[in-house]
Amino acid sequence: MDDKVRIRCPNCTRLFRDRAQRIRDGYQVNCEHCARLITFTRDTEDPFMRRTMKLARETRLALEAKVTAERAASAAAARSQREY
Ligand SMILES: [Zn+2]
Repeated sequence: MDDKVRIRCPNCTRLFRDRAQRIRDGYQVNCEHCARLITFTRDTEDPFMRRTMKLARETRLALEAKVTAERAASAAAARSQREY
């Protein structure tokens, strides 16, 4: 699963990607193209930033659900091994 989301730099308007786990309210990153410091805030007026934060949150939740499911599956496997 792709854990990266696209970020649109408000300064140079070019796109780059960063990991969804990092992007949340207050997160700061330098643009890969112009090195401008970008600060993510929940109440931004920038629709691209809003979309990036929404996507990042959804991706994080999906990744967490996947990890939880895998843990449950391996715990169930360990239980069934002990029973035999
Ligand atoms: Zn930039």
